[in-house]
Amino acid sequence: MKINIAIDGPGAAGKSTIAKVLAKHLGYVHLDTGAMYRCCAYYAHTHNIDIQDDRALEKMLNNIDIRFIGQTKVFIADEDVSEIIRTNENSMRTSLISQKKIVREKMVDLQRKVSTDKGYILDGRDIGSVVLKDAELKLYIIASVESRAKRRYDEYVAKQIEADYEAIAADLEQRDYQDMNRKESPLTKASDAIEIDTSNLSVNEVCEAVMRLVNKKIGK
Ligand code: C5P
Repeated sequence: MKINIAIDGPGAAGKSTIAKVLAKHLGYVHLDTGAMYRCCAYYAHTHNIDIQDDRALEKMLNNIDIRFIGQTKVFIADEDVSEIIRTNENSMRTSLISQKKIVREKMVDLQRKVSTDKGYILDGRDIGSVVLKDAELKLYIIASVESRAKRRYDEYVAKQIEADYEAIAADLEQRDYQDMNRKESPLTKASDAIEIDTSNLSVNEVCEAVMRLVNKKIGK
């Protein structure tokens, strides 16, 4: 028996990393919904689209061709944007464009079309509360700002991207605030979600804890 798993939580709490490991282990499909909003922000920026102009956004949403290739690659049409959508600047732009109703409606629609069956793991901000309200397992992954900023900082350093810990922490806090306080589908813990604080846990420890929850759900 397969189930659907909804993973929500603030930025850099480990949602996507956990989702990827679980998807591989369970043979499920992982959809990184944050990457979809990141593509919208990148596309709008590189095409000089005014995100306050709904008609321009509508045109953009009809044109943008977001593709996931394998577990790690994201393309817009033929352009590999896997890395460029993850910069700090694009993260901040993403948090702004994702406030737009028209953008959310289109992304939610696409996400639901992908996950019509069981065996999907979606991670984002509104998965348990909006996109997959009927997911059998809902997780709300949190971690302290310090540990999240440290992880992001280490990621940038490993990729030899210039990084400033204080700026990363400040941007994460601002993004959390915007994501939690927006009008359309704010980041919130669904009433039936299980909260896991990953601040002092390794990826393995979190995945083991989640696997116990999955096994309980599927009656193993
Ligand atoms: O998960 P990630 O950090 O890649 O998400 C980037 C941004 O995309 C978030 O800060 C949020 O503004 C937006 N987002 C969203 N709803 C989702 C996933 C991401 O609004 N389901």
